Amino acid sequence: MKIAFFEMKEKWEIEYMKKHLKNHRLFFFSGELNKNNAKNFRDFDIISIFIYSNITPDVISELKKTKAIITRSTGFDHVDIKSCDRNKIKVYNVPRYGSNTVAEYAFALVLALARKIIRSNERVRNLDFSLDGLRGMDIKGKTLGIVGLGEIGACVAEIARGFGMNILVSTKIKDPKTAKSLGFRYVNFNYLLKNSDIITFHVPLLPSTKHMLNSGNINLVKKGALLINTSRGEVIETETVIKALNRGIISGAAMDVLEGEELIKDERELLFKQHSHEELKAALEESVLAEHENVIITPHNAFNTQEALQRILDVTIQDVRFAIQNKKENTVKCE
Ligand code: NAD
Repeated sequence: MKIAFFEMKEKWEIEYMKKHLKNHRLFFFSGELNKNNAKNFRDFDIISIFIYSNITPDVISELKKTKAIITRSTGFDHVDIKSCDRNKIKVYNVPRYGSNTVAEYAFALVLALARKIIRSNERVRNLDFSLDGLRGMDIKGKTLGIVGLGEIGACVAEIARGFGMNILVSTKIKDPKTAKSLGFRYVNFNYLLKNSDIITFHVPLLPSTKHMLNSGNINLVKKGALLINTSRGEVIETETVIKALNRGIISGAAMDVLEGEELIKDERELLFKQHSHEELKAALEESVLAEHENVIITPHNAFNTQEALQRILDVTIQDVRFAIQNKKENTVKCE
């Protein structure tokens, strides 16, 4: 099989793939697959990407021989699944590689916000040891609202239980046994917004989850709540977060993902290329948010541990084998 790996640049990853997929012709590219370079990959059987390759119908129409696209991520919102279906391309993902990894990161963000850790550290870097403005909030006894209880959301619930929090969950499919064993209560989304001190998002990006938190429902949020997003940027309307911070509806936000993050990876590029209104809006919103003292933004880093990366490679190798055998395991469907 002729297989292309995009967005793979670390030597150990490349060596690992070569060792475990010996009988195939492997090609590695540090950049993304996109509509400008897709025509060079017409004769590849399998394409593997990470989250910054935007697989649009334009890209798919060039991949004449491709039977499978493997995204080395859980989220697959960067791949046009319907168009892949039409072109008989199976799409595989990597489920469950980092449920604890992302949940631990979400909690790191909870604690960093609640205890003002980043601001405290910045203060000491400037040799200022005063405590003014650094008073935080206890986590124990507070209510955590988890939006989307799948693999990651369930790990978040487990961690929250250890901290002695009350847990509310709004999710699509309910399972009373899980609620009992993890000690949480299922509620609807509006109830969760009204009653949570901290709200954390763990839904995939789908048409039904795009802008779940928006200008129409932000006023329901409990005054002074903290907002955490490690799912996908588009789940929360950024403009609404900025307004909610300015009006004191929320008292802080920690975002590992932001709307349009793929377009604003390198802000310097904004000076040299033509950009749409959406791209410029996303860039501007990011800098307004980043300057807010109660906001923490990280660069889509929640998955990034050595252990999780190793699991991603192992499942990707498994996905290559599934694809060759035309198996359905780890394939994804659109909503
Ligand atoms: P999962 O599929 O196991 O869980 C998602 C849950 O959301 C499911 O239980 C589903 O029923 C629920 N859901 C779907 N639509 C919903 C809706 N409209 N309202 C409420 N709930 C809904 O996925 P997961 O492994 O827990 O991952 C969740 C998301 O986290 C991924 O899709 C991905 O976008 C994101 N993620 C981010 C990082 C990162 O580095 N920041 C890493 C991994 C995953």
